Amino acid sequence: MNPTAQVTPMLAGLDARLPELRARYEDLHAHPELSFQEFRTASIVAADLKQQGWDVTEGVGGTGVVGVLANGAGPVVLLRADMDALPVAEETGLRYASTAIGTDAEGNQVPVMHACGHDMHVTCLLGATGQLAATRESWCGTVVAVFQPAEEIGGAPAMIADGFLDRFPRAEVCLGQHVQSAPVGMLGTRAGAVMAASDSLRIRLFGRGGHGARPDLTVDPVVMAAAIVLRLQTIVAREVSPTDPAVVTVGSIHGGSKENIIPDTVDLQVSVRSMNPVVRERVLSSIERIVRSEAAASGAERTPEITPVYSLPMTVNDIDTTLTVLGALTETFGADRVLTLPRPFTGGEDFSTFGTALGVPSVFWYFGGTDPAQFEGVDMKSVLENGLPDHIPANHSPRYAPLPDPTIRIGTIALLAAAAPWLREIRR
Ligand code: ZN
Ligand code: ZN
Repeated sequence: MNPTAQVTPMLAGLDARLPELRARYEDLHAHPELSFQEFRTASIVAADLKQQGWDVTEGVGGTGVVGVLANGAGPVVLLRADMDALPVAEETGLRYASTAIGTDAEGNQVPVMHACGHDMHVTCLLGATGQLAATRESWCGTVVAVFQPAEEIGGAPAMIADGFLDRFPRAEVCLGQHVQSAPVGMLGTRAGAVMAASDSLRIRLFGRGGHGARPDLTVDPVVMAAAIVLRLQTIVAREVSPTDPAVVTVGSIHGGSKENIIPDTVDLQVSVRSMNPVVRERVLSSIERIVRSEAAASGAERTPEITPVYSLPMTVNDIDTTLTVLGALTETFGADRVLTLPRPFTGGEDFSTFGTALGVPSVFWYFGGTDPAQFEGVDMKSVLENGLPDHIPANHSPRYAPLPDPTIRIGTIALLAAAAPWLREIRR
């Protein structure tokens, strides 16, 4: 920590707040909730914000919570955390590990775990809101703290659809962060694309079922599906430029119940990742073309149904704003701790929904949450190139367990440091 950093006055009293934040984190971790079911989490967030002195609105886009703190003339800054957990059975062995069971969107009973670290995001943003309320003399402007539901399935648009743009002060910059399986103390981001666009589709193919011994009297959707799955692979191989990354994965295929019955339908689930809006449009329209054409080629009487399940836009960091944020993080944490990432991740995020809807720049960065001891002997360059070694659990793993104390402190400071260039700006 640099004592002369711009953020320093906003950190007064933070160390005394850490035990309370640690307890908050452990409680959230032990009580994870699935996407759009973050009722307990949201009520805790709302109560904490009110106690800190924020104006609080609950139930925004389902379970979303928005806090507003107006502190004189100045820029409006949006800080965002996501709140949902995943259907994963926790295997961390932590004292505060989750044993929660939830009901997923299909009505199945599933184990629930904060395997993506969104409990850390909530805790750090509550740390930052507490500091902002307690150090009002050190900054000016307005902060909009967004606690968003359902990041894992693209919940941000639900907040926008619930009048977010008109109900709250319009931010001129949006800032967000994600805890990552990197050593605690490391932070990183890049200008431009940081995460891929992620689209999920369900496809239902309609044939005409019948006896397996008389295929001539049927339209076989299993053969239709087989042709479609293979032909979809040609999109990336033959329709997308070799220099543009794209992924088309058919992760699920279901049809039929017995070897001698030709079914009426087959269902496919498809995941698409892309790093460029033009490529994304091309891939999605090619999927539609191939699915419809293969169905027609099979003699299907009914056109397939293609249903988008969710769509996470690409996460793109505005170039100038990223340089400002990287500068502030570097000033605060030191140049050896803040990396400029060489390329985007193919994971997806819906954070950029806010900046896009507001028409303002946004910046998303990563902060490490893993015990540095686990990285002993690990070449960080190779991690950036080839991913994590097997012994280090990544986000979404049942063994993912950030180290609470240093990570909460760093994540809280990072939010304040990134916002400081706007909140400590003197405007005439
Ligand atoms: Zn996740
Ligand atoms: Zn996440």
